[in-house]
Amino acid sequence: MGNQRLFEYVLQNFNNVCDMMDLDSSVRTILSQPKNEIIVHFPVQLDDGTYELFKGYRIQHSNMLGPYKGGIRYHEDVRLDEVKALAMLMTIKCSLVNLPLGGAKGGIKFSPRKYSEEEVDKVTRRFTAALGNNIGPAHDIPAPDMGTNAQTMVKMMDTYMNMCNPDQKHNSRGIVTGKPVDCGGTEGRASATGTGVVMCIEEWAKHRRVDLSKTTYSIQGYGNVGSWAGVALHNHGAKLVAVNDHTGTIVDERGIDSHALRDYVKEHGGVAGYRDLETQDRNTFFSTKVDIMIPAALENQITEIEAKLMDVRLVAEGANGPTTPKGEKVLKKKDTEILPDVLANAGGVIVSYFEWVQNKRSEYWDEDEVNHKLKKKLSKAFWSCVEMTQDYDCDIRTAAYIGSLKRLESSYKLRGIFP
Ligand code: GLU
Repeated sequence: MGNQRLFEYVLQNFNNVCDMMDLDSSVRTILSQPKNEIIVHFPVQLDDGTYELFKGYRIQHSNMLGPYKGGIRYHEDVRLDEVKALAMLMTIKCSLVNLPLGGAKGGIKFSPRKYSEEEVDKVTRRFTAALGNNIGPAHDIPAPDMGTNAQTMVKMMDTYMNMCNPDQKHNSRGIVTGKPVDCGGTEGRASATGTGVVMCIEEWAKHRRVDLSKTTYSIQGYGNVGSWAGVALHNHGAKLVAVNDHTGTIVDERGIDSHALRDYVKEHGGVAGYRDLETQDRNTFFSTKVDIMIPAALENQITEIEAKLMDVRLVAEGANGPTTPKGEKVLKKKDTEILPDVLANAGGVIVSYFEWVQNKRSEYWDEDEVNHKLKKKLSKAFWSCVEMTQDYDCDIRTAAYIGSLKRLESSYKLRGIFP
């Protein structure tokens, strides 16, 4: 899928912004590579008795603002370049939305769909054990990402707790976020990334005076992020007209029922075959005219090829890194606006932070409280980006990077660099 180049793309954005804002050169040098790159190999016995060796990564990009934070991805295309890029995006994201957290990302190169539940659990536990003290509730806090979920997180937590000294066990609940609510998770985490995308769209609609109830939208990827975003935008009265995932594309100009589609995808693993809709190709998805497109799948999906096909007013990036620099150039020429990943999908890590705080304080917040706090943080970040677009005469991605890097730069300047 061409994701070998994701780090290069993220660095390209980073370097452009550094030039524009004249970022301190030492800060630029430090942030252009991760602090730590941890790669582990570990064996797991499969259900048929044979052993397989798995490769896992944890890339810790920056802990300047707080402990390393970021998801764990299970996917057959996971590679070092990708995880490094995603870790860097986490640093930018956490700083942008003003969390006391740094940036990290991890992953295992395998497709969980091809293994039994027991095998996936064993992979998770062995990976956690292999990471050992490289992670910790005050050091590096994993979370779900593509291919992982609350089930994965609770296995990580359980493994970590079993390796702790007894007196540390219950202080260790915050070792991961995105846990099931019954095991120290928070209300509102599962939906946070998807609803956060729509909260950002709401602010954008206020800014541009757009009535969301009159808009049409399309979504790529109908998993955890895409389906929650689909439902939240539907609740505004917007019309979902096209959805694409690894099984194909469905289009219905009359509107697709976002709730029913979510149930269908849960049962069938993809959108193909939904109701009586014909399964179409990927290009049909990108050439379907809509007001708002939400890419919520893999990175590098909107290259110049897809961008040329698109007729869209706003791209709200639910996925990390879905638009390549060349794709972005084409979209700019068409006056398509982009709500960048580091802002649009920050809802996930914001509510992860809320979970971590609740774990530390042994508190329990209800869903309204979580969503209220989430909305407040995202809307503040959105409007600070808008202000920055005016100050620097730039697009929202550039503005988001500037805001984020300013915070990191100021922190480095105040603390100085050791020794
Ligand atoms: N994996 C999510 C992201 O890319 C969430 C990370 C987290 O909650 O730590 O933002």
